[in-house]
Amino acid sequence: MNIFPDDKELKRLITLDDPSPLRAAADKLRRERYGTDVYVRGLIEFTNHCRNNCRYCGIRAGNNPVRRYRLSEEEIIAIADKGYGQGLRTIVLQGGEDPAFDDGSICRIIKGIKDVHPDCAVTLSIGEKPEVSYRKYFEAGASRYLLRHETADEAHYRKLHPDSMSLSNRKQCLHNLKEIGFQTGAGFMVGSPFQTLDNLVEDLRFLQGLQPAMIGIGPFIPTKGTPFENEPHGSPEMTLNLISILRIMFPYALIPATTALGSILPDGIILGLKAGANVLMPNLTPPDVRKLYSIYDNKSSIKEEASVTDGSLAKLVRSAGYGIVVDRGDVKALS
Ligand code: SAH
Repeated sequence: MNIFPDDKELKRLITLDDPSPLRAAADKLRRERYGTDVYVRGLIEFTNHCRNNCRYCGIRAGNNPVRRYRLSEEEIIAIADKGYGQGLRTIVLQGGEDPAFDDGSICRIIKGIKDVHPDCAVTLSIGEKPEVSYRKYFEAGASRYLLRHETADEAHYRKLHPDSMSLSNRKQCLHNLKEIGFQTGAGFMVGSPFQTLDNLVEDLRFLQGLQPAMIGIGPFIPTKGTPFENEPHGSPEMTLNLISILRIMFPYALIPATTALGSILPDGIILGLKAGANVLMPNLTPPDVRKLYSIYDNKSSIKEEASVTDGSLAKLVRSAGYGIVVDRGDVKALS
């Protein structure tokens, strides 16, 4: 399989009806780079307050019926500590853009985790910030940052976001993060409203320019209380095709089988691994607030277990021919 497909070939692969050769090519490359290893990241959704109004997102500022919550710094650090005990060596802190967590607060949380567990990676997924803030987080010990670009097409971006946001700022953030030294993650939703096949090709071309360490994609899921609540969801098959295409174009990349895929496809997580993904994100968010982090409806999550290498998730992954490892799971060289 050509790892540099032209646009026409990309469109054919994205919409492929019989994806077996595509899946096989992706799986081969994944095994060459990462063997059968599956890396796990403990996800802490620590706030659902958000100042933004992304039209697709369930926790957008304008979605008033949503009950809002924040975990305290101490709670977040304690949850991370418990995750470490279960075998997790990466903690992902995700949230809305919540001004209550200023730079000092984020840095205290990062240091609180790293002081006790220096061998644990901290990943942030807290949106667009000034470059100086990103630098402070990096100096405090965070080493990875997830910021999906959402769509690389200017006109499409404007349809998904309010005027106060811009694709150029999001791209600038991604470049700043890379420049600072973060292992940086970008990505997009599959089947978001108004998306065309050409847009998806643009997304792949944008990623080729950026060369991110991590690439997260998932199907768009309509969400109550948002302007897109009555739009159709994205195609899980197309998402799986795109995971395989990403593995082929970016053999080194850390690619999660995402919660969104698992939410609309019963075996989505396993099918995602078989399509080329090599990362899973068990959810460590306390059960009482987990349902409030409703970025989309019917959100499922990978349940936390006493041990990531010895439980029902581990078994499921093994039965698919892969194995969860206790490892930070850093990116191998970007080539
Ligand atoms: N505030 C952070 C985290 C956003 S939530 C940030 O701006 O990066 C993480 C991702 O969930 C988003 O980047 C988006 O791609 C995805 N998401 C949000 N709403 C969604 C929906 N309705 N369907 C599917 N994915 C969605």
